Amino acid sequence: MAEFELIERYFSAIAVRRDDVVLGIGDDCAVLEVPRGRQLAVSTDTLVAGIHFPHMTSAQDVGYKSLAVNLSDLAAMGAHPAWATLCLTIPDEDELWLQGFSSGFSELLKAYNIQLIGGDTTHGPLSITVNVIGFIKPDTALQRNNARVGDKIYVTGTIGDAGLGLKKMLASIQHESGLRYCISRLNRPTPRLDVGKALVGISRCAIDISDGLLADLGHICTQSRCGARIYMERIPLSVELRQFYDNLPDWQDVLTSGDDYELCFTLPADAGDALNTMQQGLATPVTCIGEIVEQPGVQCLLADGRRLQTTHSGYDHFK
Ligand code: ADP
Ligand code: MG
Repeated sequence: MAEFELIERYFSAIAVRRDDVVLGIGDDCAVLEVPRGRQLAVSTDTLVAGIHFPHMTSAQDVGYKSLAVNLSDLAAMGAHPAWATLCLTIPDEDELWLQGFSSGFSELLKAYNIQLIGGDTTHGPLSITVNVIGFIKPDTALQRNNARVGDKIYVTGTIGDAGLGLKKMLASIQHESGLRYCISRLNRPTPRLDVGKALVGISRCAIDISDGLLADLGHICTQSRCGARIYMERIPLSVELRQFYDNLPDWQDVLTSGDDYELCFTLPADAGDALNTMQQGLATPVTCIGEIVEQPGVQCLLADGRRLQTTHSGYDHFK
């Protein structure tokens, strides 16, 4: 199969067509119509086989995850996704794999009405780079540097499922139901676009949790020149994760293993009513886990008031 044929078969035909795409796949560039009064939010993320997902991950899940993690970044800015590009490096032209990848990828394109507008296809060790572009109203982006002392800190969904899924998957532990859930959280994270959009006008500051809550909340603190205090008994945990622990979970794992793709955001202490109204329209649960403080760093407090000692804060490619 020639490169052009491959693109035609697996990517040109992919589901969504939008009116704002003047020229899509097939020419030297895509040409796009930007809506009046909107700014563009642009983000890119690479997934390398064996680093960002285990080699045993199915093609469908790799396709799904490669778009999901990028959409999570748009969610963390409060942006509306519109377009995506896909740079695919594959070791061989495995049609079954390409079919699976393309179907997992297009599931999310369809779910959020995003058009694939271009990309590149090359030969080499499996690696996927996706670029996503979304719209945002001027001056509404949820920036990492906007937390203020006294703000409350919130997270969406539950924390630690994906990290546990990965750990057990790599240990080849049998798939029981709780584990299946955690592995699906690892392979098919839900980009919290609904929450991100709803936060615009209420919150000024958010991040998505990709490297672990400690590390990513740490980024908010560094960029906002403040610190955070979070309470372990408030960290939302799934029933599936709890099944794996007799009593308390391994907090170090929960806070640092990453791949959660939940949002962490801050709100002024008096914004509780706005949050309640916002939550009524959302299916995604939101939990207050602590507050922004002056003292730099993230302090993790256990139920008895002692501080949790952590050895590292999250995944780092260069350590
Ligand atoms: P060029 O040589 O000009 O870089 P390519 O042959 O790489 O063009 O790509 C031809 C067309 O197919 C371009 O419009 C490009 O954006 C698109 N394309 C290539 N690979 C992919 C892919 N994996 N997914 C989507 N579009 C792709
Ligand atoms: Mg090219």
